[in-house]
This record gives sequence, structure tokens and C-alpha cells, in this order.
Amino acid sequence: MKKIAIYRNSHTASIQLASKVKEKLVQAGFICQEGLLNPDYVLSIGGDGTLLGAFHAYEDHMDRVQFLGLHTGHLGFYTDWLPDELDCMIDSLVQNRMKETSYPLLEVKLYFQDQTIERRLALNEVALRSFGKTMVCDVSIKDVFFETFRGDGLCVATPTGSTGLNKSLGGAVLHPCVEAIQMTEMASVNNRLFRTLASPIILPKQEWLDLYPQEADIPLSLSIDHLFRDHCQIERLRLQMAQERVHFVYAKHLHYWDRVEASFIGHRQVDKSPLQGDKSWN
Ligand code: NAP
Repeated sequence: MKKIAIYRNSHTASIQLASKVKEKLVQAGFICQEGLLNPDYVLSIGGDGTLLGAFHAYEDHMDRVQFLGLHTGHLGFYTDWLPDELDCMIDSLVQNRMKETSYPLLEVKLYFQDQTIERRLALNEVALRSFGKTMVCDVSIKDVFFETFRGDGLCVATPTGSTGLNKSLGGAVLHPCVEAIQMTEMASVNNRLFRTLASPIILPKQEWLDLYPQEADIPLSLSIDHLFRDHCQIERLRLQMAQERVHFVYAKHLHYWDRVEASFIGHRQVDKSPLQGDKSWN
């Protein structure tokens, strides 16, 4: 029997939908509950933020778990299914009609001042910032010094994360087929004394970035997607595309640029019918 873990946000619509989904999935022969260990599928109910929570709850299971997103808010980037498509979604699972797609992830290696090392994955981005004092941070690319950054912070995003914080920082929107990571600056200081490139940069999958915060007494905050840590004593942050990818199943998929248009411009009606919308991002 296939196991489906439900991960939802705390909105009333999501709570109600989760109990309905659970009942229907159990009737259809699945083992289904919240917080299930080693599931085959993780069904996120909410928005993109909820999907980020689901991703990190199963971050160590990337090789064996597939995600589905049922959205109870507005159209999401990771959430494909609407509540009124529930029966269609369950039918597709029962009849094994789901297709698979996968997206690149960011590998984050944190080297702390106390010599401990931690490895994490990011679905959207990693952001290192200083609130208050200016962050000073050396940036190297493939072990070669590139620049000394001074400013509010730096953000490194995945292709699917490029429509999140990265976009608000003036980064480019990358198609998820592009295997690359993108670094954007937050309010860099650029004058006669201090100089950075002051443009987003996009690195291919075989390259990596190292960030070396320079002034140990400046308190830094680190966010990995929606997760946030204050007062990080970081010596170095290594960022590169991960070996792992995140896997999704879908029966129909909006064309990526239709989704971008619908989310950020919204001039035209998007046809989300199974025939018209059946286009993988791959
Ligand atoms: P939040 O502040 O509650 O939500 C931020 C918004 O970003 C929500 O509307 C969320 O969509 C949307 N979002 C998340 N991932 C996205 C993606 N890949 N493409 C487009 N929009 C996306 O924070 P949260 O729910 O904990 O999510 C954390 C994420 O928010 C971060 O990874 C970052 O990308 C994004 N964020 C953006 C800014 C900014 O643009 N200035 C600032 C902070 C964080 P839903 O409503 O569907 O959940």
C-alpha cells in the first residue's frame, strides 16, 4: 500500500480540506496521515510557503519521496491542484496516471566558528544578512577570490526559488530546466572605496560559491527558505547545486511562463484544462 503524508498549514480551509483528503485517500486504499514516516508521497495543503515546510520536514528523503501541492490560497509555483480537483487528483494517483518532474536544489554547507559543519538543502534560496551593521563578506567563485561585499546581505537562489526573494532583489526569473544557481545583492555599498559587481550572477552546476563573513562581531542572520537563524557565528558558507533534486508528481501542469505571467502580471486568462495545460517544465 502506498503511503501519503499530509502536510498542511493552519488555515481553516486547509484543516477542512486535509480531513476530506485523508478520508478519500484511505477509501481509495492509501495509508494516509500527517507526520507519516518514510512516505511515498508528501501532499502539501496550503500555499508555496506550506510546500517549503513540507520539503524541509522530508529534506532527508529526497531520493525516495515525491511531492504534490494542493493549494488553498492563490495560484502557487509549487502547488498545482485546486480543492475542486481533488477527485481527479486521487483518480490519477490510483490509476498511476501521474507524471514526474524534478527541480534543482541548492546545497548549503555551513562552517561555523566553533568548527562544526552542517549540510542543508534549500528549495528556494539561502540569504545571509546583517540587520543593523553593514555586512562585510568575501565572495569567492570556484575557490578564487571574486569580491568583497559590503551591504545588507546576499541571497543565493535555485531556479524555482528565482520567483521568490531573488526576484524582489532584482534577480532574473530562471526556467526550472536551467541547472544553475543565482546570487543577488541586498543594498550593496558601492562608492570610491568599496566596489562589488552590483549585478546578479548566475553560476552553472559545476561551479560553487564561498561566502566568508569578515567581521566576526557583526551578528548575522541566515535564512534557508522559510527557516531563520539569528546570531549565526559563520566562518564560511559553501553554496552549489545539490546532487539531489526534488521530485513532484502531476497530471497536468501549467506552462512555466504561463504561471509566471499569471502570478506577476495577470493580463490574460490562463487555461488550466488538462489538455491545454499538460506541459511539463522539463
Ligand atoms: P512569507 O513571507 O509568508 O511568504 C512570502 C511569499 O512568497 C508568499 O506569498 C509565498 O507564497 C511566496 N513564495 C514562496 N516561494 C515562492 C516561489 N518559489 N516563487 C514565488 N513566490 C514564492 O514566507 P514563507 O511563506 O515562509 O516563504 C518563504 C519564502 O518567501 C522565501 O523562501 C522567499 O523566497 C520568500 N520571501 C520573499 C520575500 C520578498 O519577496 N521580499 C521576502 C521574504 C521571503 P504563498 O502565499 O503561496 O505561500
